Amino acid sequence: MTTVAAYAAPAAKAPLERTTIERRAVGEFDVLIDIKFAGICHSDIHQAREGWGEAIFPMVPGHEIAGVVAEVGSGVTKFAVGDRVGVGCMVDSCRECDNCKAGLEQYCTGGGMIGTYNAVDKNGDVTYGGYSRQIVVDENYTVRIPDGLSLDVAAPLLCAGITTYSPLKHWNAGPGKKVAILGMGGLGHMGVKIAHALGAEVTVLSQSLRKKEDGLKLGADHYYATSDPKTFQELAGSFDLILSTVSAPLSLDQFLSLLKTDGAFVNVGAPEEPVSLNLFSVIMGRKSLAGSGIGGIRETQEMLDFCAEHGFGAEIELIAASEINEAYERVLSSDVRYRFVIDASTI
Ligand SMILES: [Zn+2]
Ligand SMILES: [Zn+2]
Repeated sequence: MTTVAAYAAPAAKAPLERTTIERRAVGEFDVLIDIKFAGICHSDIHQAREGWGEAIFPMVPGHEIAGVVAEVGSGVTKFAVGDRVGVGCMVDSCRECDNCKAGLEQYCTGGGMIGTYNAVDKNGDVTYGGYSRQIVVDENYTVRIPDGLSLDVAAPLLCAGITTYSPLKHWNAGPGKKVAILGMGGLGHMGVKIAHALGAEVTVLSQSLRKKEDGLKLGADHYYATSDPKTFQELAGSFDLILSTVSAPLSLDQFLSLLKTDGAFVNVGAPEEPVSLNLFSVIMGRKSLAGSGIGGIRETQEMLDFCAEHGFGAEIELIAASEINEAYERVLSSDVRYRFVIDASTI
């Protein structure tokens, strides 16, 4: 066991504070990672404030981790000391169910994936996330960060990147496809970059035109405000795919009307309350309403390689650990362009 500095929420809704945690000894197939950067995901805030139901405290959030391998177990074959690596939303899964075998560990049916934090590991330990100086992770749940990507802008790819990449790939965003990204926050801005790099014609649908300039710079071809009713008339029947990154309640019928025949509306953001819709909105036009959660380990590696090949990471604001609580407030008021990343050396 190693004692490691970390930032933790001591209780629901309490501010995060500096503390220490214990990391397990490096096992046969483990890598010890010196964390360099950790992104702040909106779901860190939901969980630290117990917004998604029962949570384990103290909680060390953080599932957008980028760092360097400091030590490897005797059985590790994929990584060596000095390698640049990342860890995303999960640190293990059953490895035996059909989904795990198919590389869809995030949908593990053998007990579910083990979250990077706020979860109980196979050995009974509570998992602690990336707001810390080091983490010990099985090599099979660790991915390689290509040399072309700086670690700070790579960190948010481990959740925001894969969460948008996976559905864009699954629903065939690419040349000849019209894709709308709904919401222009941490997830949305990655959706724009990735959909553009995949070759799709990209439209941002955002509440206002406040971030229009950024959106066009990041690769969007068009940018519309959803607060303007004319948007819905003008864009009716336009899109093959709408990727919704927003967690505010939406008028689904209205957005489904923007799809072409056979189009899909895919949610990666989720409102806390159940939603309702008129099923004629999907019947007429054979439309799909779907969802998608992060991505598997293999696909996460593919996404990192893709981003490196296309020369982009996330747009970030680098902060010191002492600024985490302030950053949470700013995330909640959508005042970040577009992801806060903690410099782990300040923890
Ligand atoms: Zn996340
Ligand atoms: Zn499984």
